[in-house]
Amino acid sequence: MIKYVPEMTSVVLEEIPDRVSLAVDISNCRGNCVGCHSPFLKLDIGEELTPAIVDALIADNFGVNCFLFLGEGRDPEALLALAAYIRSAHPAMEIALYSGREEVEPAIWDAFDYVKVGPYRPECGPLNERSTNQRLYHVRRTAGMADEGLRTGNARTGFPLWDTAGPFARRGWQDASSAIPTCAEDITYRFWRKGIDPNR
Ligand code: SF4
Repeated sequence: MIKYVPEMTSVVLEEIPDRVSLAVDISNCRGNCVGCHSPFLKLDIGEELTPAIVDALIADNFGVNCFLFLGEGRDPEALLALAAYIRSAHPAMEIALYSGREEVEPAIWDAFDYVKVGPYRPECGPLNERSTNQRLYHVRRTAGMADEGLRTGNARTGFPLWDTAGPFARRGWQDASSAIPTCAEDITYRFWRKGIDPNR
């Protein structure tokens, strides 16, 4: 189960460049960032984020074009299932994940269009500082890549789960040294150029 904090849901313009994002704060964070900005998100709080609630949130916020998960909780299968649902039910919507982890699994790269990695480190600063350790990637997927993931993935989620044989790896697009698919572009520089402050 993935839980979110309804009171914190908002439409944001800065977290994902050039996108109007519906940002949903996910609880049960498994991170341990020094200087965590929202320690309460480590707790089991909020309400279950279901496909019906996703539909209602999108309907209530006309004009958003990116669904942004601020955090990933502790149930990766449920997270991937929600991403797969958004992909199928709202195909025009892009899907983004702010993860606080150093690395994420191939299934995450398969399922999301934007992935932020890296725990918050006060001495490095947030995304809008050049010294930041955090990175935001834009996965430049093609229709064929998405189709392949849907054909070969887990029956419930539509995507492979935590294995290393996802569509990126099979096509040789996996950077073995970093586990970041080579079709994922590091767009962190966009925050430096615009000077915006996604201090998450
Ligand atoms: S990922 Fe976010 S909520 Fe989780 S520990 Fe790090 S700063 Fe706190």
